Amino acid sequence: MRRRTFLQIMAAASLAGPGCSGGAPSSVGGTPPPSVDGGEYDLVVIGGGIAGLTAAWRNRGGDVLLLEKETTAGGRTIAGSWNGYRYPKGTEYLGLPEGKTAELLNQLGLWPTQVAAPTIAAVNGSSLYYGFAGAKRMFEEAGALASYQKIEAAFHRLLTRELQEEDLDIPAFDANLSPYDDMTVAQWLDRQGAHPLVKQFIDVENRGLFGASNSDLSMLYDIPEMGWNLVDFEGSPAEGESGSYSFPGGMVEVIEALMTAVNAQ
Ligand SMILES: Cc1cc2nc3c(=O)[nH]c(=O)nc-3n(C[C@H](O)[C@H](O)[C@H](O)COP(=O)(O)OP(=O)(O)OC[C@H]3O[C@@H](n4cnc5c(N)ncnc54)[C@H](O)[C@@H]3O)c2cc1C
Repeated sequence: MRRRTFLQIMAAASLAGPGCSGGAPSSVGGTPPPSVDGGEYDLVVIGGGIAGLTAAWRNRGGDVLLLEKETTAGGRTIAGSWNGYRYPKGTEYLGLPEGKTAELLNQLGLWPTQVAAPTIAAVNGSSLYYGFAGAKRMFEEAGALASYQKIEAAFHRLLTRELQEEDLDIPAFDANLSPYDDMTVAQWLDRQGAHPLVKQFIDVENRGLFGASNSDLSMLYDIPEMGWNLVDFEGSPAEGESGSYSFPGGMVEVIEALMTAVNAQ
C-alpha cells in the first residue's frame, strides 16, 4: 500500500489553505480519509498549526494522520484579508532563519526578505519615538537606558545560555530553569529593580503578543520572546535594518507551502 499523509479537518472545511473555507472533510491526498476510529498509523499528529504540519511533513514516508479541530489549518499562523489586502492575524515575522528553520524553508523552496525598518514605535507622554534610535532616545530621556540595557542583556543571556535556543536544539530540561516558571515576569522585573518605563515597555509587548500582562505570564514563558524581541541598541540589528523577515504574502506562505508539500505525499 502506498504510504501517505492524511489530514482530517474535524470541523468540515477546507484543505486548500489557511483563510479558505468550504468543501468537505477530506484527506491531504484528495480522497476521503479513512475512519479515524480503528485506523492504524505510524504517527498521529494532533493540531495542524505550523508545528503539526512540519511534523507531518518531516515524517513523510510513513502513514501519518494529522488531526485539526478547526475549519482550516494554520493555527496561529493565519491571514485575514480586507479590500484585496492580505494581513497577518497571528505570526508576522521571523528573525533571519538559521539551523533547522533555514533547512525547512530551503526544502520548501521559500526564503523570506527583510521587512523594511523601522518596525518599532513607542509613545511616552506626548512624544512618539520610532525606529531603534527613537526607542533608545525614549529610554535615555527618561533616565531608563541603563535599566533597559541591563534587562535586555539578562533576557538575552537567559535565552542563549540557559535555553540554548539556537537551532532549536533545546537540551534536556534543566532544573535550573524551574525557578523561572515559579515567578511572573512582573516579579522578576521587580527583583532586578527595573525602571518603571522598562516594565511598562515589556508589559505593552506582552499584552500585544500574548494578550497577557507581566503579572499574568511566567518568566520562563517570556524568556524566548523577550530574549529575541528586546533589541541591543549598541549591537544588532545594524543601523537601518529591522532584523525581521517575512514573505510577500506573509508568514502564512509557510503554511501554504507545507500544505502543498504534505498534499504531494
Ligand atoms: C497575534 C500573534 C502574533 C504572533 N507573532 C509572531 C511572530 O511575529 N513571530 C513568531 O515567530 N511567532 C509569533 N507568534 C507566535 C506563533 O504564532 C506561534 O508560536 C506559532 O504559530 C505556534 O504554532 P503551533 O503549531 O505550535 O501552534 P498553533 O499555531 O496554535 O497550532 C495548534 C493547532 O492545533 C489545533 N488543535 C488544538 N487542540 C486540538 C485538538 N484537541 N484536536 C485537534 N486540533 C487541535 C489548533 O486548532 C491549531 O490549529 C504570534 C502569535 C500571535 C497570537
